[in-house]
Amino acid sequence: MARQKEEKTAGAAATPPSLPPFASAALMLDLDGTLIDFAPTPDAVVVPPALPQTLLRLRARLGGALAIVSGRPVEQVDALLPGIATAVAGEHGAAMRLVPDGPILRPDLPEPPRSWLDAAERLAGAHPGVLLERKRRGFVLHFRRAPAAGPALHDALAALLAGSERRFELMPAELAWEIRPIGVDKGAALRALLAVPPFAGRTPVYVGDDVTDRDAIAAAIAAGGVGLLVGDWFAGPAGVRAWLAAMAAAPDGRAGSQGTPDRDRE
Ligand SMILES: [Mg+2]
Repeated sequence: MARQKEEKTAGAAATPPSLPPFASAALMLDLDGTLIDFAPTPDAVVVPPALPQTLLRLRARLGGALAIVSGRPVEQVDALLPGIATAVAGEHGAAMRLVPDGPILRPDLPEPPRSWLDAAERLAGAHPGVLLERKRRGFVLHFRRAPAAGPALHDALAALLAGSERRFELMPAELAWEIRPIGVDKGAALRALLAVPPFAGRTPVYVGDDVTDRDAIAAAIAAGGVGLLVGDWFAGPAGVRAWLAAMAAAPDGRAGSQGTPDRDRE
């Protein structure tokens, strides 16, 4: 497993499967760990300078059908990539902006009890390096800078949930634990996007890097589309960006083979 991962991150990325033509595709992309590299804290990420232009070109080729599907709040996604995505699903779908400059729609979901946030604050304070990220419908404890704290944080959060009615769940993320309302996941976000223009009627292509993306990958495949886990197909976010740039620059509309110049084409 570790060896396989090493090979992948060393650049031995697989050939992504054939994609639908631009005219019938909808591209839905995770942000952190997919388009941009992780940083020690969520605020410290850097958007590579060429990425916005690549995404804008793809959006144009896709008739606007480009969305970002992230665990971050919509406002953060839009601040990192201003004016880029037609739609943004934030907080794993608990907040959705469906049109450019449109309102952020929030399904009726519970907010976590104040006592849980107090407990999360105490946990962050007790483990130096642990960061509490508040969201409207939940919160995240990031332990990227304190990896040894992971199991203790998990157990403490699980204990909070165990004493409550089942309205929230504890989800693993990339070196983080997240508490969020049950029923919110990126698969549901993908399906919600596919119900509205310009995504409706198109074949979804989803790319994401972590466990929270598996729901969207499954939903994309169930909708007759393509779902790609970064670790299986790309050499990290840089590999995804190169693949997207190749597609954006490709002369014809078919996206499937442009990212793999070293392999035979049909
Ligand atoms: Mg990610």
